[in-house]
Parts: sequence; structure tokens; C-alpha cells
Amino acid sequence: MGMETKTFKNLEAEVWATDLCSGCGACVAVCPADALRFVPGKTDAPVNIGYCKSENDGVPCGACYAACPRVDLAGQGRMLGAYREIVAARSAFPVENKQSGGAVTAILANALDEGLIDAVVTVTRDPWTLKPSSAVITSSDALIHHAGSRYSWWVPLLASLKEAVVTRKYRRIAVVGVPCVARATQAIRASDHDLLRPYAKAIRLVIGLFCTETFDYAKLVEEKLQSEKKIEPWEIQRLDVKGKLDVYLQDGRHIPIPLADLEECVRPGCRVCTDLTAVDADISAGAIGSPDGYTTLVIRNDIGRGFVDRAVWKGKLATGGNVDIAAIERLAAKKAERRKE
Ligand SMILES: Cc1cc2nc3c(=O)[nH]c(=O)nc-3n(C[C@H](O)[C@H](O)[C@H](O)COP(=O)(O)OP(=O)(O)OC[C@H]3O[C@@H](n4cnc5c(N)ncnc54)[C@H](O)[C@@H]3O)c2cc1C
Ligand code: SF4
Ligand code: SF4
Repeated sequence: MGMETKTFKNLEAEVWATDLCSGCGACVAVCPADALRFVPGKTDAPVNIGYCKSENDGVPCGACYAACPRVDLAGQGRMLGAYREIVAARSAFPVENKQSGGAVTAILANALDEGLIDAVVTVTRDPWTLKPSSAVITSSDALIHHAGSRYSWWVPLLASLKEAVVTRKYRRIAVVGVPCVARATQAIRASDHDLLRPYAKAIRLVIGLFCTETFDYAKLVEEKLQSEKKIEPWEIQRLDVKGKLDVYLQDGRHIPIPLADLEECVRPGCRVCTDLTAVDADISAGAIGSPDGYTTLVIRNDIGRGFVDRAVWKGKLATGGNVDIAAIERLAAKKAERRKE
């Protein structure tokens, strides 16, 4: 590494202070000094807790900067990206809380059962408060239990990548994440930075989820739903975003909320995000384009192909049916227009 090591100070100036931070948490995960955090009440970007190897001790580091998906904003993904095949798919076994077709759960559960991976780094949520957290999952039963999408943001999404790689020393990890997370994993995989190499080697599969935006947890759940709409999080059976936020309650009620009403809940960093389909993932998954009960799978490379084929071969995943690619392209084109004013 040269003299021009970039540190959290550069991240702070280029990403944190400019409202570009996606909240992916890659910097938090890879900082060897555990010096970056998100603090309650200030969730737009991380803070440094007062120490930095480079800044304080002159030891070249810069891991945080090297992993950040937002330092090269112009390089963000757009549209469909490169792919081999786009298929409609669903799990061939029941997945109670699946968001779309349960295909993501089926692929990962199969990979765990077959021993192709040791762990999945993903985002789970507390069923009572709906507060999401970054988690390491190692059994297919637990994974199936945690199916479904988390639309609100509370913790750095990739935070538990450090737990998986450094603490628990897993060497074959799958990461599930929204497009900014997929882009961070790509930055990590492509980097020649010494401190990122253990992470790069351990990430065997990245499944990206289509994403239009995430909402700040406090603003969505506590302010919008609880205070304003008088909906308690534990009354909610299911949330879905498809052009609007659909809230389905345990008692059978359905409350649609237009996205225009949720503008102030959107994380600032999402406003400059141009990537709908997670172009940097090995497999991307979304609802749009496929019939109800199916997941649209964008298989991007040989790695993705391999995991999908194994799940089909083991009878865990069923594929088939037409995908409306033009519908995905229309939504992707809308997102690709976002930019910093
Ligand atoms: C914030 C967000 C916005 C989305 N917006 C759209 C959209 O506009 N259009 C569209 O077509 N699809 C969208 N999706 C994707 C869609 O909701 C489904 O995730 C996708 O279709 C896969 O469905 P599935 O049934 O195969 O996944 P499941 O089998 O239900 O598995 C989902 C997996 O993803 C993990 N997960 C859930 N939420 C997160 C998260 N926030 N970060 C990381 N991992 C997570 C779960 O732990 C689980 O392992 C969005 C997803 C998210 C999280
Ligand atoms: S975008 Fe991700 S890596 Fe970059 S500063 Fe924000 S949390 Fe850290
Ligand atoms: S829109 Fe989705 S992918 Fe983009 S920054 Fe927000 S959470 Fe990340």
C-alpha cells in the first residue's frame, strides 16, 4: 500500500458528510480496530469512536475506505447488469414466511444442508418490534424460520460479516443483501488490500435482493406506523413493497401506504442509489417480473449457476415460467435516474 492510504477521514469527507452512506456496514465490519459504529439517534452514517490505526499510530490501514461502495458513486450499477439467465423459481418445500417464492431460502438452505457453505450472513428481525439485526445463520431450519424481507434499517447490514470471518472463522460464507451490500462485497472481493483478503476468500456466494429503498426503523416503525397510523409492530403479519408499502395485520386488515407518504422515512443514502437489481451479486432475486408465489432469479455467473443447479438437482428448488423482463427494466430505468442534485 502506498503513502496515499485513505482513512475514515476520507470516508467522512466523501461519504458521511455528503449523505451518500448507504448504511451497508462494510466499513464497520472490516475496521480492524472496531473503531467505526452507528450510534442511536444518528443513523445516516457511522462515526469514528476516537481511534484509527492510520491516523493515531501511523500504521497503514484504510480497510474501511477500500470496502465502501459509495466512494465511487458514478461506478454504481444500473439496469439489469450482466447475466446468464433469468428464471422464475420457488422453493419446492413450504417456507412459511417467504417474501416471494422462497427461492432465496431454498438455495441457501440447500447449500447449508449439502455443506457447500458454513454460514449465511443475512438480516433477521425481532418478531415483536420488527427491529432488524445483522446475523450469522448456520442451520437450514433457522434460515427457513427467518425467511421474508426486512424493509427497515437499524444496524449496519454487514456488521456480522466480521463475526462470521474473524470470530467464528468460517471459511465458506454466503452473504444475502440489498444492492449496496452486494456492491460492498464486490469491492471486498476485488480488492488487493491485505486486510480485506480474509473476507474476500471467505465469501463464496452473494445473493442480492432487488431494492428500491430502505426506511429508517425509527422513522418508519415508531413514527409512521406506531405514532401516526396507530399500528403496533407486533400486530403486523407481513410487510411488502411493490409500488407502495402494504401492511397486512394479524386480524386480516390490509393497510396500503403510498410511497410518497414515506418520503421522509427513506434513508438519505438511498436517494442517490441507482442499482435496483444488485448487479454485483452472483444471483439476484426479486418479486417483480414473476407471477405471485415465485421469485425472479437473475443468475449472473458460474458461481450463481452452480448453487441454483444444486438446489434444483436436490429437489429443493423448482424453476419455470415466463419472466417479464421488460417490467424489471422499467423499474430499473426509474431507479437508474436517481442522482445527487
Ligand atoms: C429493502 C428491500 C426492498 C425490496 N424491494 C423490492 C422491489 O421494489 N421489487 C422487487 O421485486 N423486490 C424487492 N425486494 C426483494 C423481495 O422482497 C424479496 O426479497 C425477493 O423477491 C426474494 O424473495 P424470496 O421469497 O425468494 O426470499 P425469501 O425466501 O423470503 O428469503 C429472503 C432472504 O433474505 C434475507 N433478507 C431479508 N431482508 C434482508 C435485508 N434487508 N438485507 C439482507 N438480507 C435480507 C432473509 O434473511 C432471507 O434469508 C426488496 C427486498 C428488500 C430487503
Ligand atoms: S456506504 Fe457502507 S462502507 Fe460506506 S461509509 Fe456507509 S456504511 Fe460504511
Ligand atoms: S436503495 Fe437499497 S441498495 Fe440502494 S442504498 Fe438504499 S438500501 Fe442500499
